[in-house]
Amino acid sequence: MVKLIDGKAIAASKRKEMKLKVDELKGKGVNPGLAVLLIGNHPASISYVKGKIRDCEEVGIHSELLRYPDTISEDELLSEIEKLNQNESIHGILVQLPLPKQISERKVIETIAPEKDVDGFHPLNLGKMLTGQDTFLPCTPFGIIEMLKSENIEIAGKHVVIVGRSNIVGKPAGQLFLNLDATVTYCHSKTPSLSEHTKQADILVVAVGRENLIGADDVKKGAVVIDVGMNRNDKGKLVGDVSFDSVKEIAGYITPVPGGVGPMTRTMLLENTIKSALMEIGGK
Ligand code: NDP
Repeated sequence: MVKLIDGKAIAASKRKEMKLKVDELKGKGVNPGLAVLLIGNHPASISYVKGKIRDCEEVGIHSELLRYPDTISEDELLSEIEKLNQNESIHGILVQLPLPKQISERKVIETIAPEKDVDGFHPLNLGKMLTGQDTFLPCTPFGIIEMLKSENIEIAGKHVVIVGRSNIVGKPAGQLFLNLDATVTYCHSKTPSLSEHTKQADILVVAVGRENLIGADDVKKGAVVIDVGMNRNDKGKLVGDVSFDSVKEIAGYITPVPGGVGPMTRTMLLENTIKSALMEIGGK
């Protein structure tokens, strides 16, 4: 029988624990703070940002939503980030992606102080992750690992196949699994015979953005299937990259969309913000 990995419930229970940590921090005089920068009026971005602010309220993290028109220049945005780097009440800075064309994503990410980079995208933090040092982990891969840990799913020695190699999901996910002693295979748009690879996975992570990319024939019996994809189907419904109804007949574990990886991603942002605030005490 397949087991559904309920990311929504796991994330909610993590937020309860986080609230206690935040209260403890406040008792020590540290009030964790997150700044969320939203540029423009992209409806999906507005909705993501609102969700992040709500999550902060739930666990007692102070949050500031800073909105800018999509005509803002790169220099102006970078100088806003510099100000937040100096602001002692802010422990985490998140710039909602995507950005307008005139602004370089790379420059924005590199301007955020590494010690406030709660998205874990700064090259310094990615380098620390690569070399197995303690750092802010990118939220989606971090959330995936936490989900597996809460289900007591073993990672060491398993064959993990990652479909997708973006800098924010696929690549760091593979690296985290490798750090935990898995054997990792990466697949991408130039991989021939994708199914030959996915069928070998003990743990299959799919992060592409294409509905029904993975069907029952692409999955080994009993495999753990993690669906990161978020797509709108022709009925406007949110769906993943995995054909849920057929794959659940084969898999051992599966994450739903919605209610799987998404809520975990949001919650790991809070975890990183708390980590940053804790570092302040460590430094005192
Ligand atoms: P990107 O578009 O940056 O990367 C997609 C990856 O998929 C690329 O590496 C691409 O390969 C690969 N790919 C494309 N087509 C195929 C194919 N036919 N077969 C195998 N690989 C293919 O996307 P992201 O990593 O940012 O996001 C992936 C999905 O996850 C999206 O649906 C996104 O919305 C969702 N997402 C969900 C999150 C959550 O919290 N649930 C968080 C972040 C993303 P190549 O490199 O060769 O182009």
